[in-house]
Amino acid sequence: MNFTLTPRQQAVRKEFEDFFREEMTKAPPVAGGENIYDNDDAWAFHCDIARKLGQRGWLSLPWPKQYGGQEAPIIEQLLFNEVRSYYRAPGVDVQGIGMLAPTLLVSGNENQKQQHLPPLARGETTWCQGWSEPNAGSDLASLTTKAVRRGEDYIINGQKTWTSGAHRAHWCFMLARTDPNQPRHRGLSFFLLDMKTPGISLRPLKGMDGSHMFNEMFFDDVRVPASNLVGEENRGWYVSLMTMNFERSSVGAMSEARRVVEELVQFCKESMFDGRPLSEDRLVRNLLGQITIEIDVGKALSYRVAALQEKGQENALEAAIAASAAKLYGSELGQRLAYTGCRVMGLYGQVKGGSRWAPLRGYFESAYQQCLGMNIAAGTSEIQRNVIAVRGLDLPREPAPAKN
Ligand SMILES: Cc1cc2nc3c(=O)[nH]c(=O)nc-3n(C[C@H](O)[C@H](O)[C@H](O)COP(=O)(O)OP(=O)(O)OC[C@H]3O[C@@H](n4cnc5c(N)ncnc54)[C@H](O)[C@@H]3O)c2cc1C
Repeated sequence: MNFTLTPRQQAVRKEFEDFFREEMTKAPPVAGGENIYDNDDAWAFHCDIARKLGQRGWLSLPWPKQYGGQEAPIIEQLLFNEVRSYYRAPGVDVQGIGMLAPTLLVSGNENQKQQHLPPLARGETTWCQGWSEPNAGSDLASLTTKAVRRGEDYIINGQKTWTSGAHRAHWCFMLARTDPNQPRHRGLSFFLLDMKTPGISLRPLKGMDGSHMFNEMFFDDVRVPASNLVGEENRGWYVSLMTMNFERSSVGAMSEARRVVEELVQFCKESMFDGRPLSEDRLVRNLLGQITIEIDVGKALSYRVAALQEKGQENALEAAIAASAAKLYGSELGQRLAYTGCRVMGLYGQVKGGSRWAPLRGYFESAYQQCLGMNIAAGTSEIQRNVIAVRGLDLPREPAPAKN
């Protein structure tokens, strides 16, 4: 793989950098990641950046022009993701832009594309993902929320959980069971749901740090038009598999990690311990060197996913396995990075953002608490290993029972 950028790509990258460098000088103390859902100032900043990105056409770089896209090469999308993540900038609706839009481009009908893609491209709409249920997470195909056809509508009843950002979202893409008599994954359908529809209610699920990012979502006779079904009835599982691959293939995480390490290195150069800078401590240098290597490995894994996705359907299986590997490695690396930061900073690493004693605006305090969830979101590490074992290595789905 050739990592050198062409002059045009360098120019595009610089444009992204100039934009985010300038905009992030106006950021409130808590600005990025899932924190945007919790904090009103962070949410307002996210929406403002989203609209500015929409005006520049940067939310829809590779999409076809008729849906508000730019038809830019996928590498420009990759560069955008990297630069935005490096600056830890909000402005991109991860569920809507990152997951739903590519799914609709492949599986949506013309009306659905025309209705939903242009507002997403302008940064006007926010989506949430209604998949997990109290008894259906890793084993998503066991979900029980029902959708029953009544004339031109479906009537939905049931419950979702862990729905990130549902309290900020305009729309939800969700899975519901349309045929309880079919084998589990064959009876599911994929719907688009306006969050203002009567019968939807939300209950906040607070994180261990007190933040409100997740929700429980309840459906009580919620009427959704049949025209909001994506793909065919009872074929929603196959639509959702595609969405999952987009969810697992994000390339920005390594770029954010690189920035964090740069800031940590700066902290070590400026902070004294036992009369000398931390950067002269052998253990600290070792930790920083190790994590830097791991970030480079993660970057190569992410680039591989993008390269395979660009080749299209013929590489779909390889891309799916690579996406699982990149997601698994990236989320576990996020955990090691959070531990490294807290270890290097000692007690200062535990001070919350907003305090004058918090280095890096409290990044590691927050990252330490949130990184565990990253190993669970979008499929746990065990599930990613299973995907690699079964689909990548052709190992049996379940281990054979032990013989006596
Ligand atoms: C930060 C975050 C954001 C999220 N956002 C959303 C969202 O917006 N929308 C949404 O629908 N969901 C969301 N989720 C939910 C997430 O998809 C589920 O939590 C996840 O799929 C795991 O399901 P579960 O919590 O039910 O755990 P379980 O599936 O009950 O798993 C429990 C444990 O058992 C292990 N396990 C389960 N099955 C196997 C197996 N076959 N082999 C080996 N080990 C196994 C798991 O790895 C895990 O360690 C989010 C979760 C997090 C943490």
